[in-house]
Order: sequence, then structure tokens, then C-alpha cells
Amino acid sequence: MGGTLVFRSKGQGRQYKSKCRRSGEIPILLACLMLVAGRLLAATISAQIEELAARHGQVRIGLGRLTLPVRVASNLPLSVEPADGTNKQAPILCRKAVINIEGGRLRITCDGQMLNCLSVSFASQNSASEIQINGRTYAGVIRMGLSNGRLNAINEIPLDDYIACVLKAEIGSAPYEALKAQAVVARSEAIHKLKLGRHAGDGYDLCSSEHCMAYQGTAGITAEMRQAAYDTKGEVLVAEGGILDAVFHTMCGGITAGAEDVWDSPPVAGLEPVWDGLARNDAPSFRSEEEMESFLSHPPAACFCDPSNALFPAYARKYYRWTKSFTATDLQRLFGTNVQDVKVVERRPSGRVRRVAVLTATGVKIIEKELPIRKQFDLPSGLFVVRVATKSGVVESVEFFGAGSGHGVGLCQMGAWSMAEKGFHYDAILRHYYPRAQLARLYR
Ligand SMILES: [Zn+2]
Ligand SMILES: [Zn+2]
Repeated sequence: MGGTLVFRSKGQGRQYKSKCRRSGEIPILLACLMLVAGRLLAATISAQIEELAARHGQVRIGLGRLTLPVRVASNLPLSVEPADGTNKQAPILCRKAVINIEGGRLRITCDGQMLNCLSVSFASQNSASEIQINGRTYAGVIRMGLSNGRLNAINEIPLDDYIACVLKAEIGSAPYEALKAQAVVARSEAIHKLKLGRHAGDGYDLCSSEHCMAYQGTAGITAEMRQAAYDTKGEVLVAEGGILDAVFHTMCGGITAGAEDVWDSPPVAGLEPVWDGLARNDAPSFRSEEEMESFLSHPPAACFCDPSNALFPAYARKYYRWTKSFTATDLQRLFGTNVQDVKVVERRPSGRVRRVAVLTATGVKIIEKELPIRKQFDLPSGLFVVRVATKSGVVESVEFFGAGSGHGVGLCQMGAWSMAEKGFHYDAILRHYYPRAQLARLYR
């Protein structure tokens, strides 16, 4: 028999077909990737693929705590299945439900019928069906259950439907090739995180915030976003033994960061810093504050995320170069004592600040790593210089002058947007931001 099913969507009856001949689902996946990558699979990749195959191509997204009463509505009848642990009651069909918690159990009014249970699932019956939960729209299956007296929800949907939703939430109405690049990147990051299982204790694979990837359901998804997800179906980035955790950020400011520059991480193959343009490809080596100041004050010509290059969305324009200023009083409030100096004491070759020293009346405070530094001063990125203004040796103000928004690692979304407008295809965009990664197809 010829190869057919790799992943089957339980919620919407959609099939992901493999062109390979089969003797079982996992072997098909492995064989396909070996053909694409042209070399033996690393154990890491096969383990990552097995995680996805074990879920039949579905991902579970944690939607968090729901506000009571929860109102569920659908354009078509939903299959509603109440349960007490493993004891499932017979499913019923229903289009409108209201859920409350009473006596530690769910009390559900479902098209006039009353249900009493500890958990419940609402499943769409076909792909035209939508599930509204407190006004937000989802596809697939919604599972709700009690945890510490709170009602939490998980949305189970096919991976590629999830990717289309992530495009809407993460990059919006970008040009088509940028959407495709973002789809590959989001798919790689999602499959990579399945194996990491960082929400395993919560009962789902990925959360709906930027901690994993932003996800707001199906509202506002365009035909182009769905097409970009399905045109790249099964495609991921692979680098040195695994599916790449292909992270991305809003805007790099002219140079991306290495993983080791911003996190507690060794250098990661595929996540090296790159100049965001075609003018140079030498390794970045910012060391001195003067060199950094010069780069920020005189941005390189033809940088892909320079807002003058493309019709960027308004929210991103302000991040190419930015300033944030503190008066002496602001700093005193922030640190609870007089601040006598603020300086960068360690900068990585990609320009990202690794350590900042704040000299106060009570001693020196060292702030280390990109995220704690950004949070301490509420900065858009870790690519900045510090300008201290003094009068008679006393600090009057401190200005952070910086570039970009986000951690800076991997795909620069606004750079990808601009590259697509200039005619670059998605595979060229991916090669630019992940020069040591390869594009591979896991399934069709
Ligand atoms: Zn998360
Ligand atoms: Zn950029």
C-alpha cells in the first residue's frame, strides 16, 4: 500500500500526506527527512519528530485562565463531551453554552440541557466550524478543566492551522514571502519546543503569550496567512543535529545577536549574529563604546530593517533608533539611592550589552544579561550606549541611545518584511538570517 497518513487532524478531518512509501508513521517521517537532508538523521531530530507524530500533528496551546461565566458559541453544532477524570459522559451536540463553577465542579448550560462535570471538551465537527470562547474565536478542540479552583482552557489544533494563527499575531499583514519565512521559523520553533516540554507540567505544549509564541485564535487570519502556512507545509530549519529553535524578534537595528550574547547559552549553530544587509559579511566585533556609538549614530546604508526602506507598520518604525532618558531623580527612585554613574562593563561582539554597572552612594550594582538589563531600565533592546551628563561631577541625567526591538536573535521581522518587498524569496530570507541552517521538509 502506498504512503498516506503521517499526521491526521482529529478535529477537522484534515490529512497530512507523505509521498514516501510506508511501513509505519515514524519511519516515513525519518525516511523523508533523510532524503531532504541528504544525510543520516541525528537522534535529536528523530526525537523531535516523534514528539509531533505522537500528537498526530496536533499541538496543544494553553489559553490560560478563563473569566467566569464562560460563554461558548458556535456557528455550527459542537460536540460537547463532559467528563469526571477518565469517566466520560456521552457527548451531546450544542451551539451555545454557559459555564460556571459550583461546589468545585463545572455547571454547564448547553442549549437548555444541564451538565455537571469536572472537565469538558468542545470539538468542531468540520473545518467551517468556529468555537467562540468569551468572544475570542478558535478552531479544533477546546478542553476546559479545573485547576486550583480556576477554569483553564487548552486549544488543540493541527500544527499548520496554529502556524497560520501565529502569523496573524506575530507579524500581521507582511508581504507574502515574509509570511512564508515567518511560517517556517514559527514551525521550527514550535516543534523544537515540543521536545523541550517546558509546559508539560501544565498539560499543554505551548502557551499563547510571547513566552512561547503569540497566539490569539483564528480572528483576522487572512487567506494569505493560511496559504503561507500551507505553501511551506512541513518545512523547518535544521542545524547541526536538530530542528532549530528558530527564534525571531521585531527589529534588530542593523545587526542580529548570537544566542550566547543574550541568554545563558553556548553558541548555537544557526543562531549566529549577521549584519542586516548585503554590504558586509565579516564577523561583527564591537568592543569599544566609541565604535558602538558611531554605528548607532551613523546607521549603515541599505540596512534591511531601516524604516526608510519599506512601508513598515507604524509600531515598528520607532524602534530602529531610540532614546530613553532618566533624570537624577528618576534614577534615585529606581535604585533607592543616589546614582553616581552608569556604564557598560561588558559588550558582546554583536554589540549586545551583557553587563551594566550602576555606581550608587551605597556601592556598585551589576546588572547582568540582556533581559534583566532591559527590564531594569525598560529598554526596547540590549543594543545601546549610555550617555551620562554631569555638572560639577554630579550626574544630571543618563540617556540610553539604542537600536532595534527584542532580543535580536534569529529572524529580524522588519528586515524580512523589507527583503520580501525587495523581491527576495522566503528561502533567501531564511538563508540570510540563519546562514548555517538548512531548509528541510518533514512532511507534506
Ligand atoms: Zn510558553
Ligand atoms: Zn534587522
